[in-house]
Amino acid sequence: MKGLKCVKCGKTAKPARLRLEGAVVAGWRCACGEEYLDTEAVEQLLAIRKLASEDLNAKITRQGNSFAVRLPMTVFKAFGLRDKEKLMISIDASNPKAFTLTLPR
Ligand SMILES: [Zn+2]
Repeated sequence: MKGLKCVKCGKTAKPARLRLEGAVVAGWRCACGEEYLDTEAVEQLLAIRKLASEDLNAKITRQGNSFAVRLPMTVFKAFGLRDKEKLMISIDASNPKAFTLTLPR
């Protein structure tokens, strides 16, 4: 992400991780203190928050010698996933009914 010209002082605001309602969102912060949120990052945060209140299901399908986890398109889009993208699997040995998929990026 490149710098952004600050509307308040005219200097170049630098890419930064900004706090927004308890979440961290991409944006820019200027030396004068002015902050600018990345519109796409905010839209993604809102889409993810909307999904968090929905009942979502994934489906497992066989693909050769392995299995694919089919995700709803709304999840795919909200998280900006890409075809053939790899996710990390985290397993909590004390919980045999759950595992977590995490984006490595
Ligand atoms: Zn400024």
